[in-house]
Amino acid sequence: MHLNDLSSCSSFTRRSFLRSASAVLAVGPILTEAHFARAAALDAAVPEFSMKGIHLDANENPLGPSEAARKAIADIIPNGGRYAPPLYFDLMKLYAEQMGVPVDHVQVYDGSSAPLHFTVLSFTSPTRSFVCANPTYEAGQRAAEIAKAPIHAVSLAKDYSHDVRVMAKADPNAGLIYICNPNNPTGTITSKEDIDWLVANKPASAVILVDEAYIHLSDATSAIDHVKAGKDVVILRTFSKIYGMAGIRCGFAIGRPDLLKKLMDYGNSPMPITGMIAAQASLMDSDLVTARKKLIADTRNDAFAWLRANNYSFIPSQTNCFMIDVKRPGPQIRNLMAQDGVHIGRSWPIWPNYVRVTVGLPSEMQAFKTSFKKAMDTPAAAFNEMPPLRSRRDGVVV
Ligand code: PLP
Repeated sequence: MHLNDLSSCSSFTRRSFLRSASAVLAVGPILTEAHFARAAALDAAVPEFSMKGIHLDANENPLGPSEAARKAIADIIPNGGRYAPPLYFDLMKLYAEQMGVPVDHVQVYDGSSAPLHFTVLSFTSPTRSFVCANPTYEAGQRAAEIAKAPIHAVSLAKDYSHDVRVMAKADPNAGLIYICNPNNPTGTITSKEDIDWLVANKPASAVILVDEAYIHLSDATSAIDHVKAGKDVVILRTFSKIYGMAGIRCGFAIGRPDLLKKLMDYGNSPMPITGMIAAQASLMDSDLVTARKKLIADTRNDAFAWLRANNYSFIPSQTNCFMIDVKRPGPQIRNLMAQDGVHIGRSWPIWPNYVRVTVGLPSEMQAFKTSFKKAMDTPAAAFNEMPPLRSRRDGVVV
């Protein structure tokens, strides 16, 4: 049961509403990029975790909320004592209109971490596996572990797209196939043709979850047409990336109402009014996406030109993060750079010699270049004198 139902469902009794609203299943911890980044920092023996220094480790947007979103947040503060349900309905309506779907096909959340977690819990189980790429964003796998679902992690194809043909065959009883498009950590794209093929050829039991957290930064085509066509597809969007609202919080799940209803069984926290009003202001700012996409692409391309000029190998990305092959254990470079106050991102177990770097402001990327070169020029012997890396399960702190 969610607020959206209240306006249409007059036959609902007070008691049944409250029972439904409180019938929440055990869900385990919902992990965000911040958890993974924090855990990697601890693994790299970075002495202190704070907001000091330059943070290129959690795929955040240093631009923060847009001017319009900031003003909207400031203006709504006096109403902070209210739950303000009309805001909730207005935002859902606006978002549904912009996505071209009926309002019962969208559900707002405080970011996309919760609906990602709940979608995995809804459609996986010990007999319905979770299929994902490797490497990809880890939160889905963590949720699948909570569901005690078998996990099939399928290596990315040679062009760093999801290998949809292998993923489709991974398990005839798959419960959920997770496609992160563009992919975190590689920033690479899976073509719309491949996603169309997967939707047409997936096991009948499987729902496809397309996580489009980074889509605005790239030229990838959304899979929203499959939702419109009534397929077994759920799409996730967040305001944490191009809209710069990771700390303000807003995100959406988009899918058939019967699919979204399953997610609701796992809960839906009330939305902060600051997140809702800032999301609304961001959506109404028609230049925002284009301007920010260009700004971030210019900074990213400048970093790529510099990496090429210095003969460093990297994976060309279309988002606000990219992976560099540092040709030694990634935490060694991360650890050294942290001593300069430049915090870069983690490595994934399948590629221990790669590090993920988030695109920061041009001035931050200047500091990155200086510190990265210094670390890469450090003689191998110096690494032996560094404190040993801590070992923890994929570095996840919960
Ligand atoms: N999905 C992907 C691919 C991400 O990289 C992230 C965070 O970085 C999320 C989902 C969750 O983001 P949030 O909960 O801030 O919306």
